[in-house]
Amino acid sequence: MEPIYEGKAKKLFTTDDPEVLRMEYKDDATAFNAQKKAKFENKGRLNKAITLLMYQMMEEKGVPTHLVSDVDEVNLLVKKVDILMVEVIVRNSAAGSFCKRTAMEEGTEFKIPIVEFSYKSDELGDPLINEDYAREMNIASPEDCAFLKKQALVINDVMSAFFLQCGLKLVDFKIEFGKDCNGKIVLADEVSPDTCRLWDATTGKKMDKDRFREDLGGVMEGYEEVLARLEKARG
Ligand code: UDP
Repeated sequence: MEPIYEGKAKKLFTTDDPEVLRMEYKDDATAFNAQKKAKFENKGRLNKAITLLMYQMMEEKGVPTHLVSDVDEVNLLVKKVDILMVEVIVRNSAAGSFCKRTAMEEGTEFKIPIVEFSYKSDELGDPLINEDYAREMNIASPEDCAFLKKQALVINDVMSAFFLQCGLKLVDFKIEFGKDCNGKIVLADEVSPDTCRLWDATTGKKMDKDRFREDLGGVMEGYEEVLARLEKARG
């Protein structure tokens, strides 16, 4: 089983099946375009478990993902896909780079969710782009972009409702998509507190990677609590 890719938080390996890869979730954490780095014991295990649970829930709601099956504590089998070089961000309330860009107060709720695209490039710091950029950069066609936006809003509805059931407010999140061997676009990569902002619905306590970004402490305690609530809601 050959390693074929190592990213900031995950590694990919080939398997006996050319259409299937093994995805290993690492304990490494990065923030601010990898300028801030740390290792958190159990992060790989927690993010794998949270992604698995979220993908299973989404498949049941009719959202296709690249999930094939669970392997062990830190590994999933996933369909081999060509990852689109566009990251899709959905925002329900103001936070992070949105606040920096606009000076709007953190937590301000939007009337309608905002969908953003960014160019998946560590070198350039994942810059904000739009559909016209994606077309001219040949990274996603106008048809692909329309589908990504529509699907991201469906995913937002499904995830927001489920997280709310768990007493969590989904503030914003980043997702990635891949094209499978039939050209079908499916949700890929991960859905975890590394990629979603999650606040306790009553107290507003941050339970995601902002605990690391903002040096709030108790980073893994936040992730553990998210997993415990998701498992309880799934029954
Ligand atoms: N995000 C991510 N990876 C990135 C950029 C953003 O997972 O490379 C997630 C981030 O955790 C948050 C949402 O996308 O849930 C919106 O992030 P934002 O644009 O506010 O960026 P940041 O605060 O990371 O600068």
